[in-house]
Amino acid sequence: MILIFFLIFGLLVGSFANVCIQRLPKNKEIFFTRSACPHCNQQIEWFFNIPVFSYLYLAGHANCCGKKIDKQYPIIELLTGLLFLINYLMFNISQSITLSVIFFIVLLIIVIDFKERVIFDFMNYFLIISGIIVSIINPDLNPLNIKFLNAVITGLIGFGLFYALRYLFKKKRDIEALGMGDVYLIAGLGVWLGFEKFLYILSISSFLGIFYYLLYGKNKDNFEIPYGSALGISFIFIFYLSKIF
Ligand SMILES: [Zn+2]
Repeated sequence: MILIFFLIFGLLVGSFANVCIQRLPKNKEIFFTRSACPHCNQQIEWFFNIPVFSYLYLAGHANCCGKKIDKQYPIIELLTGLLFLINYLMFNISQSITLSVIFFIVLLIIVIDFKERVIFDFMNYFLIISGIIVSIINPDLNPLNIKFLNAVITGLIGFGLFYALRYLFKKKRDIEALGMGDVYLIAGLGVWLGFEKFLYILSISSFLGIFYYLLYGKNKDNFEIPYGSALGISFIFIFYLSKIF
């Protein structure tokens, strides 16, 4: 029963994630404005706004104007639902609630960085502050059980390392290889991962970044790897992998 609840709640939160992904980069309000069709601007009736099901029912076309609905909407909804469900299946109840909140923010960072090459400071600060608070009050809420000192030191090492890399690239080659968003992000993820897993995220995310570059970036000038997305994906995998192995 709780299983179904986690899935449905995840789908609904995924629907809210879509709202954030669409509106935050445009500086639009996210809580009070009703959803409107991006093509014809008509308000969407609630029964055509049910996660995943409406998309299937409408066969991928908007009810108002018949234009195609971006596949991103059902994919994000399903993905969030699955993340919440897997969290519930893999971890105890308080850990799965904690992780679902954290993964929601990380998912936003992954998608927004991928689409817009932007990482919002307030999301990074949220990760840093929440990670430190959990490490003080109840480290067991984090399945990796990261204590205060480990959290703070790993966050500082992540920040220092990425800040130094950013500085070096700027000075020696005059390129912005890492944005400040990446620097704060690795600090926030480090706080949640602790030092050992921090080494994992460095290797997995670099591998993902290089892989992405080889797929899409070769022979392109000014190609920017969405490294925040690579970090976020690695972060989520590390929690699941560390439970399995
Ligand atoms: Zn429309």
